[in-house]
Amino acid sequence: MYLKRLELVGFKSFADRTELEFVPGVTAVVGPNGSGKSNVSDSIRWVLGEQSAKSLRGAKMEDIIFAGSDSRKPVNFAEVTLTLDNTDRSLDVEYSEVSVTRRVYRSGDSEYYINKRACRLKDIMELFMDTGLGKEAYSIIGQGKIEEILSTKSEDRRGIFEEAAGIVKYKTRKREAEKK
Ligand code: ATP
Ligand code: MG
Repeated sequence: MYLKRLELVGFKSFADRTELEFVPGVTAVVGPNGSGKSNVSDSIRWVLGEQSAKSLRGAKMEDIIFAGSDSRKPVNFAEVTLTLDNTDRSLDVEYSEVSVTRRVYRSGDSEYYINKRACRLKDIMELFMDTGLGKEAYSIIGQGKIEEILSTKSEDRRGIFEEAAGIVKYKTRKREAEKK
C-alpha cells in the first residue's frame, strides 16, 4: 500500500483544486516558509479523521477552510481526497485503489466518502485500523512523536505495537460487545 494521490479543494491555503501525485519511494516537500508544506500534512491527518482543530493549528474547524486573500474570496467548503494504492490488499476491500474523501462546510457539517460513496467516520477508522494508517497511527510521525513513543507510559507504547500486530480491531470489537 502506498499513497498515490492527494487532492485538495479549499483546504487552508489551497483555494483552487490542487492535485499531488506520489510514486513509491521517498517524496520530499520543499518550499519557502508559509508556502503550505505543513498544510499538506495537516490535510492528510484531517482526511483520516482528525477532529481536533488545535492539532491542525487552528482555533476551530472552520479555520481549515480557505479564508480568502487580497485577490480571492473565501470559499464555502474544504475537501480533501486521499487515494491509496491497494494492489497488495493491505486494506481489507476488493479494490486495488481506495480513496477516502472528507468535506466540511462552514456550518461545521462533515461528510465522508470511501470510493465516492458516502459513509461514516467510523467506517474510515475501521478501514485503516491495524494498518498503521489513521490519524493516531504511526505512519504519520509529527514533531515530538518520537519523544512521545520513547517516553510515554508502557500502556501507550503497547498500543503502538498492538496496531502493528493487527489486533486493535479485535480489541475494539470486544470492547463494543462488552458494552452491549
Ligand atoms: P514553514 O516552513 O514556516 O513551516 P509551511 O510551508 O509549513 O511553512 P504552512 O504552515 O503549511 O507553511 O502554511 C501557512 C500558510 O497557510 C499561511 O500563509 C497561512 O496564511 C495559510 N493558511 C492557513 N490557513 C488558511 C486558511 N484557512 N485560508 C487561507 N490561508 C490559510
Ligand atoms: Mg511548516
